[in-house]
Amino acid sequence: MKPVPLTLITGASRGIGAATARLLAARGHDLALNYARDAGSAQALEAELRAAHPGQRFLALQADVADEAQVLAMFTRIDAELGRLNGLVNNAGIVVPAQRLAQMDMARWQRLFAVNVFGTLLCSREAARRMSTRQGGAGGAIVNLSSRAAKLGSPGIYADYAASKGAVDSLTVSLGRELIGEGIRVNGVRPGIIETEIHADSGTMDLLPAATAGIPIQRLGRAEEVAEAIAWLLSDAASYTVATTLDVAGGR
Ligand code: NAP
Repeated sequence: MKPVPLTLITGASRGIGAATARLLAARGHDLALNYARDAGSAQALEAELRAAHPGQRFLALQADVADEAQVLAMFTRIDAELGRLNGLVNNAGIVVPAQRLAQMDMARWQRLFAVNVFGTLLCSREAARRMSTRQGGAGGAIVNLSSRAAKLGSPGIYADYAASKGAVDSLTVSLGRELIGEGIRVNGVRPGIIETEIHADSGTMDLLPAATAGIPIQRLGRAEEVAEAIAWLLSDAASYTVATTLDVAGGR
C-alpha cells in the first residue's frame, strides 16, 4: 500500500507556503509546517487544517532554515512525531529592501544567501538523507521556490535576491540529476509577481500597479496559483519531470 504523503513546507506561516499547505492538506498530505518568527499564524494554520481534515496530521515547527542546528532539530522532531518524510517544499525565502548595488552591504548578502540558498541546501540534504533509496528510504519529491527574477534580473531593486534565486535554479538542476538515481525527484517553480506580504518587506508595494502593466496576463498572481504548480510537481502525475523549473508568471 502506498504510504500517506508526509511533506515539510518551509515558510508555511503565510503567503505561498500557507496556500500550498491548504492545497496539499486537501489532497491528503500530512504536513510539517515550518515557520521562523510568526508562531501565532503557523499555529492558527495547524489548528485550521486539523479541524478541516480530521485523521490527518499537522505539526507547526519553528526553525530558521539558515541555522543548521535548528534545521537538524526540526527534522529530528519530524522523525519522532510524524514519521518518514517523502516530500519537501523549499519555500522559505526573504527579500531585502530595494537598493542599488552601491548601497548594499555584506550583512544583507550574507542573510539573503543564508536563507534562500543555504536554507534550501540544508533542508534538501536532511530530506534526501531520509528519502534516499540508497540510504534505506522510500524516495520522494522536492520542490524549490525560485523566482522569475532569476532569469529577468532585478536591476536597481534587488540584484542580490535575483542572484540568490539563480543559485536555487542551479541547485534544482544539479540535485535533480544527482538524486533521481536515489528515487528523489527535484524540481522548481519560478513565480512571477504574486500578491503576498513579501513585497511589504522590500518596500516595493507601491511599484506593483506599474509592474502589472508589464505582465502579459495583466494581473498579479495568487498564492493559490503557485500552490497548484507545486502540488503537481510533488505528485506522481509529474513522474517524468526531473531537474526542471516551471514558470508560473502570467507570461512574464
Ligand atoms: P512571504 O509571504 O514573505 O512568506 C515567507 C514565509 O517564509 C513566511 O512563512 C516566513 O515565516 C518564512 N520564512 C522567512 N524566513 C525564514 C527562515 N529564515 N526560516 C524559516 N522560514 C522563514 O513570502 P511569499 O511571497 O509567500 O514567498 C514564498 C517563496 O516564493 C519565497 O521563497 C519567495 O522568494 C518566492 N517568490 C515569491 C514571489 C512573490 O511575488 N510573492 C515571487 C517569486 C518568488 P515567518 O513569517 O514566521 O518568519
